Amino acid sequence: MLLSPIQFFKNLPKKRCSSCKKVMVEQADCYTNKCEKCSTVI
Ligand SMILES: [Zn+2]
Repeated sequence: MLLSPIQFFKNLPKKRCSSCKKVMVEQADCYTNKCEKCSTVI
């Protein structure tokens, strides 16, 4: 039996910062793979 779309998205892994490995809150402009704190250091 297939999972419902809602369950599928709930089962997706949390996005983590590639720098500090902190779990990030999904944002609309999620082109970056670093958290807000790390992405400011460019
Ligand atoms: Zn970070």
